[in-house]
Amino acid sequence: MTDFKLISDDQWRERLTPEEFHVLRRAGTEPPHVGEYTDTTTEGVYSCRACGTELFRSTEKFDSHCGWPSFFSPLAADRIIERRDTSHGMIRVEVLCAACESHLGHVFEGEGYDTPTDLRYCINSISLTLTPR
Ligand SMILES: [Zn+2]
Repeated sequence: MTDFKLISDDQWRERLTPEEFHVLRRAGTEPPHVGEYTDTTTEGVYSCRACGTELFRSTEKFDSHCGWPSFFSPLAADRIIERRDTSHGMIRVEVLCAACESHLGHVFEGEGYDTPTDLRYCINSISLTLTPR
């Protein structure tokens, strides 16, 4: 089994497109409202585009109108890592794939969304692959 945490940048560049590499391995952000899964309501499971680990489900996806796919919970807490991020002059919580430590997006809390957790996992479409059920 591949230990995705040992994959070098050069190897990631071979596996990913330049756009995927920028977001997943350089903590980039895709522009709002352009990601392929922003408004997707297809039932299924969203996996890490870098390593294939199942991360989110359509049942926890909600329409946040923020411009990126939004989930109120991951598939399981141990699938992701949450890490304090002070880049760009903001204090945010970065969300990474626990298996390969690729960047997925950020999580915000207390925004008042009518969801069970009041959390918004704001995830780049390009970090995910949807497998319809
Ligand atoms: Zn991953």
